[in-house]
Amino acid sequence: MATLGLLPTIGALGQPLDRLVGHDARSGRTVLDMRYAKWRGLGRGLGVHRSALFGVLHDAVVAERIEVVTGCTISGHEPGYLICGSRREGPFDLVVDALGATSPLRAMLPQARAPRPLNFGAIWGTVPWVDAGFERTALMQRYERASVMIGVLPVGRQSAGGPELASFFWSLRWREHEALVADGFESWRERVAGLWPETVPHLEALGSFDALSLARYQHYTAASPVTDGLVAVGDAAHSTSPQLGQGANMALLDARALTLALRMADVADALATYAWLRRWHVRLYQALSLWLTPAYQSESRVLPVLRDLAVPIAATMPPLPQLLAALVAGRLLDPFTALQLDAVQV
Ligand SMILES: Cc1cc2nc3c(=O)[nH]c(=O)nc-3n(C[C@H](O)[C@H](O)[C@H](O)COP(=O)(O)OP(=O)(O)OC[C@H]3O[C@@H](n4cnc5c(N)ncnc54)[C@H](O)[C@@H]3O)c2cc1C
Repeated sequence: MATLGLLPTIGALGQPLDRLVGHDARSGRTVLDMRYAKWRGLGRGLGVHRSALFGVLHDAVVAERIEVVTGCTISGHEPGYLICGSRREGPFDLVVDALGATSPLRAMLPQARAPRPLNFGAIWGTVPWVDAGFERTALMQRYERASVMIGVLPVGRQSAGGPELASFFWSLRWREHEALVADGFESWRERVAGLWPETVPHLEALGSFDALSLARYQHYTAASPVTDGLVAVGDAAHSTSPQLGQGANMALLDARALTLALRMADVADALATYAWLRRWHVRLYQALSLWLTPAYQSESRVLPVLRDLAVPIAATMPPLPQLLAALVAGRLLDPFTALQLDAVQV
């Protein structure tokens, strides 16, 4: 965002974050306390609403007078062309697939494989920011074993002058969603309020399940995100559960890598460079997400016990707090140098 000159705009909308803190809902014990400041020079996180991120990028596209064609559900790709139902759009020098985790263009990448559906997902919604019981600069979570995770993430404002907001999420096995809704909002509301009484104002603001979207996760890493005239970025190239909170960051890093690579004269060379620039960072985070997610979202009774024992100890044993901070900032196998990015403060 800084290299696009958009940091002041997104920085003014987002909410700077200093830490991620999680407590056991029953005992109140701290089972996660990660502070970005533990790693020198890491700066702060920035909680942003997805529509704020979209809005800032979209305004920049409009300001650059880049043509936007709407009303097209993309169903396929032929070298140089996009297929929108019965329509064929093109020719294009290069098609960038940024269609997210359900992209139909994934199937056109080399060694295409099916994504692995994950059992867990979440219902989530946007709620007004509430001061009582919450820290403005922290993502706060409550856990009950690994089967329940409730989170409140400050996300700042959707637009300048708008109200301050938070993202509210409740993890669940997505197959149980129908039964949860059938049981009624009131019964869920009581359960959540019992586990985390401070969320009562959030639950009142939500009012019904209509205000909550169901997200299902799937794990997928493209063997290669490039093929003839087509390149995948963001969730189209790699998707996973959002436990490490890296999806949007990864998409932005992909965009930066592609921008740098496309400075090369030859498109095929540029695409190979893009794939190489992102390869190891993406693979490391995809693997870490796959390994670490079950400690926070699974049916296991053993993993959360180990987590609750190990994490508080790890939090006091250098260099683990530092590594944890770098992990949740997306800075393990730091991509910044290769992508010619400077650390910026929000
Ligand atoms: C509950 C939840 C919590 C998350 N929390 C975090 C977090 O804390 N931090 C973080 O960094 N990430 C988080 N993520 C992940 C993050 O939202 C994604 O990684 C990120 O949005 C990926 O961006 P993208 O641009 O690649 O895809 P998307 O944001 O999915 O955008 C794809 C776009 O393409 C459009 N589209 C799709 N198919 C078609 C088609 N066939 N034709 C035309 N248009 C199409 C879609 O409508 C959408 O606008 C979370 C995700 C979920 C579900």
